[in-house]
Amino acid sequence: MSKKTSSIKPTIGAYQRAVENLGLKQNIAQALEMPDRELTVEVHFRRDNGESESLLGFRVQHNNTRGPFKGGIRYHPHVDLAEVRSLATLMTWKTALLDIPFGGGKGGISINPGEYSVYELERLSRKFFRSIDPLIGPNIDIPAPDVNTNSQVMGWFMDEYSQLHGYTPAIVTGKPLELGGSEGREHATGKGTAITVREIANKLDINMDGATVVIQGFGNVGSFTAKFLNEYGCKIIAVSDITGGIYEPDGLEISSLFDYNKKNRTIDGCKQGKKITNDKLLALDCDFLIPAALGSAINKNNVDTLNCKVVIEAANGPVTPIAAEVLWKKNVPIVPDILTNAGGVTVSYFEWVQNLQQFKWEMEEVDTKLETKMVKAFNEVYAMKVEKKAPMRIASFMVAIDRVSRSFTLRGA
Ligand code: NAD
Repeated sequence: MSKKTSSIKPTIGAYQRAVENLGLKQNIAQALEMPDRELTVEVHFRRDNGESESLLGFRVQHNNTRGPFKGGIRYHPHVDLAEVRSLATLMTWKTALLDIPFGGGKGGISINPGEYSVYELERLSRKFFRSIDPLIGPNIDIPAPDVNTNSQVMGWFMDEYSQLHGYTPAIVTGKPLELGGSEGREHATGKGTAITVREIANKLDINMDGATVVIQGFGNVGSFTAKFLNEYGCKIIAVSDITGGIYEPDGLEISSLFDYNKKNRTIDGCKQGKKITNDKLLALDCDFLIPAALGSAINKNNVDTLNCKVVIEAANGPVTPIAAEVLWKKNVPIVPDILTNAGGVTVSYFEWVQNLQQFKWEMEEVDTKLETKMVKAFNEVYAMKVEKKAPMRIASFMVAIDRVSRSFTLRGA
């Protein structure tokens, strides 16, 4: 992976084109592009061998016009201020698109977590959270898990904040159920992705019963997407993870594959289909190609090999702007990331609401509310696409930017 991997590249072109299509005044466009606040901190903590170590941590608060900053905390060696800034920006548009009362933020530590023990990770997580404490709060900025952080890390964060300020579960989302996490959060992004596929299939007259699906990445998002699409009647013909892929033209048996992956944290070694490389998997003939792993997975080098009817961006920024142009010219629709994978932040919002009210919703209620939010956002994007004759990626940004700019103007300077 190159140093700049993820979402900044795909968002730049879309933002500018959306701003032009909306006829937004340049001073407003500039104000909305600029982050509100950026914090870099030293995370100084003790290793298990008694030595101390310092790492760099970041929290970027992009925009809070429509509500508190909201966004995950990522632990990865590629984390730097530029990456965190681009991901924080993306969160502003994603929360606006789903019409949830949050702005956009993101944070991270530049670290390879695999090199640290769980005790070291706990110490550095608590130290990082204390460092950003002056900037966060349940009505100010609400972190969540992201790449290489999980519900346990959120539990440590919630404990650290509560020790300083009193019991405050609403300070982070994505917590364990025992600490105020929400039913339905674990599968929310995959469920939202599957709902999005169902909605675009309906618009394009693709029959979901027997529709062929290829998924790159079989982690949280990819595996739950496969599970729900299978329930909708789709045939999942190939999936992959970092170890490679498996292909079965008659459809993989998803229930046992899901269980195998849950137990082994990989699909490697499962006894289904025949092996296929990630490159060949992307080129398979199918109705829906769903990149659910990496940024820039579909790029200028491989876009011409694709053989799908529709690309569904389940990962953040999996189709580069150049690849997107090529696909649009070939009339291959791309359902964009800020819509497709917004189920996660939507249920994070439900978790925050439940925490503020000290009230727990049943799974069915969470799933029903998620369905309503996703379908509404999809229809708004599709209506914008039709009205402005714009690709869905641009239309999504137009809906989101229009919403933020209206609130921004009404709040005044
Ligand atoms: P995850 O860590 O659970 O799973 C990632 C999967 O991708 C794993 O199966 C991994 O083996 C696979 N993978 C990694 N490198 C690969 C490669 N080179 N080729 C093929 N597969 C590879 O992560 P996740 O939570 O499923 O997130 C996946 C993507 O979705 C990320 O881009 C993330 O930012 C985005 N996303 C996740 C959520 C969420 O709620 N989890 C929400 C919004 C966006």
